[in-house]
Amino acid sequence: MADRHFSVAIDGPSGAGKSTIARAAARRFGFLYVDTGAIYRTVGFAAKSSGFLLGDEASVRALLPKLDIALGYDADGVQTESLNGMDVTSLIRTPDISRRASDVSAMPSVREYLLDMQRSLARRTDVVMDGRDIGTVVLPDADLKIYLTASAERRAERRLAELRSAGTEISYDQVLREIAERDERDSSRSAAPLRRAEDAVELDTSELTLQESIDAVCALIREKLGVDEK
Ligand code: C5P
Repeated sequence: MADRHFSVAIDGPSGAGKSTIARAAARRFGFLYVDTGAIYRTVGFAAKSSGFLLGDEASVRALLPKLDIALGYDADGVQTESLNGMDVTSLIRTPDISRRASDVSAMPSVREYLLDMQRSLARRTDVVMDGRDIGTVVLPDADLKIYLTASAERRAERRLAELRSAGTEISYDQVLREIAERDERDSSRSAAPLRRAEDAVELDTSELTLQESIDAVCALIREKLGVDEK
C-alpha cells in the first residue's frame, strides 16, 4: 500500500541505550527517528517553568493546548525540541527534568494528548520510535517491536557518562538511585506502564558494546522488515 509506512517500536527502561541505538538504526535505513521521551521532557519542562507542583494534573491539563512543541533534527540526525518557539533541546536533559518528565508522563491527560502527535508522525513516514509504551499503546501494529534492557548498574554508568559530558556534576550512586526510582515509577503507574509487548523481541545490552547493540537492532530490522540499509 502506498500510504503504509514501516514502523519500528523500541521500548525499555531509561538508560538502556534506546535513543542512541534507535537514532543510529534509523539513520542506516533512512527512517525518521522519533524520541518520544523528549516530548514528555518538554511537557515536564513547561510544567516546571510554569511553577506547577509535582502531580498537579489539573494545571498541566489546562496548559497542554497552549504548548506548541515542534521536533526538528540537527546535522547529525539528533532530534531537537522547541517549546513555543524556544529551543529547549539541552534544557530538558537534566535530572530535574527527568523527574518532571516521569511525573507528567503518569498523567492520563498528558498521555492522551501526546498520542495523536506520535501516531501522526508514524503515519507520515517510516519511523523508528523509542519510548516506554510505543509497542504496547502508541504503535500496537508496529512492524517490529524491540524491548531494550540492561542491568540498572550498566544503565547508571552510561547515564553518568552522558550527564558528565553535558557538564552535570553528579555521583554514580545518585544516578543509580534515580534510575531505580524512575524504573519503579514508570513500571508501576496505571497509565501506560512500562512493560514489554508480548510480541516484542527482547534485547539485553548489558554485555554488548554500543556498536554491537546497533548491529543487533539493524539485523532485526533487516530480517523482519525485509529492507536493506541505505
Ligand atoms: O526516555 P527518557 O528518559 O527521555 O524519558 C523521560 C521520561 O518520559 C521517562 O522516565 C518516562 O517516564 C516518560 N516516557 C513515557 N513514555 C514514553 C517516553 C517517555 O512515559 N513513550
